[in-house]
Amino acid sequence: MDVARVRQDFPILEREVHGKPLVYLDNAATSQTPLAVIEAFDDYYRRINANIHRGLHTLADEATAAYEGSREIVRDFLNAAETREIIFTRGTTEALNLVAQSWGRANLGPGDEVLISNLEHHSNIVPWQLLAAERGFIIKVIPVDERGVLDMDAYRDLLGERTRLVAVNHVSNALGTINPVQEMARLAHEHGALILIDGAQAAPHLEIDVQAIGADFYAFSGHKVYGPTGVGVLYGRADLLEAMPPWQGGGEMIATVSFDVPTTFAAIPHKFEAGTPAVAEVIALGCAIRWIHEIGLKHISAWEERLLEHATEGVSNIEGLRILGTSPDKAGVLSFVVEGAHSQDIGLLIDQLGVAIRTGHHCAQPLLHRFGVEATCRASFAAYNTPEEVDIFVEALQRVIGMLR
Ligand code: PMP
Repeated sequence: MDVARVRQDFPILEREVHGKPLVYLDNAATSQTPLAVIEAFDDYYRRINANIHRGLHTLADEATAAYEGSREIVRDFLNAAETREIIFTRGTTEALNLVAQSWGRANLGPGDEVLISNLEHHSNIVPWQLLAAERGFIIKVIPVDERGVLDMDAYRDLLGERTRLVAVNHVSNALGTINPVQEMARLAHEHGALILIDGAQAAPHLEIDVQAIGADFYAFSGHKVYGPTGVGVLYGRADLLEAMPPWQGGGEMIATVSFDVPTTFAAIPHKFEAGTPAVAEVIALGCAIRWIHEIGLKHISAWEERLLEHATEGVSNIEGLRILGTSPDKAGVLSFVVEGAHSQDIGLLIDQLGVAIRTGHHCAQPLLHRFGVEATCRASFAAYNTPEEVDIFVEALQRVIGMLR
């Protein structure tokens, strides 16, 4: 992969922070945006801006065509069988809440069980807790071992007649662990349960085939795949989506509305897209995926694997540094704690040297508690990062730790 060429697409990488060249290693939180995506916004608001689906005029037609074109790009990206299986949301969080509030509310009750894992982001925990408090089902948690790998024996034991849903992430945002979702889907289905996969951290790094995985639902966010904030995707199997009730009411999601007879709803995917969507963001997300295809996700993954190896090696010589998440299957994330130095202090000081990493609980408090910590430092990688940047990060980290001890 020609990383110098890739970097030219990201104007933000030219900026300085505190007088130092920016080294951006917070990609698991939000990835940076290539020119093609920035220009898509500019072009949309200069030439096309209109509300979609309802206008008969040229601009409305063009906006609708571009918006629906993105749906096809996303279908292809996930290898979904049909375009109507792709629902645009505000992000992964909204996609997961959609499944909880629509499918969950209709299908879960007392005696039912939902399996989540100890690796989950809060957005795949709290929607289930909120609903469980109302509907009276039970949430069970698949444990992880010392490496941050899901305990598959425990998973098999937890699956049972009462399991209705398994909700797990594909890649952990806090540790980088890649979960064996295909095998997990097979086992869930053997027990008559559905599987919902939170792909927020997988979509930027792995080729995803929802049909090969056997995913019933799959969610990801635009801003982690070089696209904009404010847009995300829920893939759902067509037969499931068709049977699910709407979760938000409003324009666009109806067939007919009446005070005299029951209101009827639009076909999928529109049934789940009430109101005016984030049209420009959806179109820009399509551009981001096109950009990924141009570089090649395989090349991006291989490159990031090299960066992760290089960084792991670099920090492993630092005394008192403990890496959390040592699964042999990892993507893009290096999470660590340092003896005698608070994660937050490291984050603040390393920023002074131009290096952006994340510190905190990464919205995965139960996971961090499993490892007996409240916070970690997390460096995460994207297509445009370089081994030289990793070296700057390791050197800066050593300096910062020296200052703190
Ligand atoms: N799940 C995982 C694994 C994530 O990493 C994130 C974002 N940090 C989310 C869900 C939530 O995504 P968003 O904030 O874009 O809705």
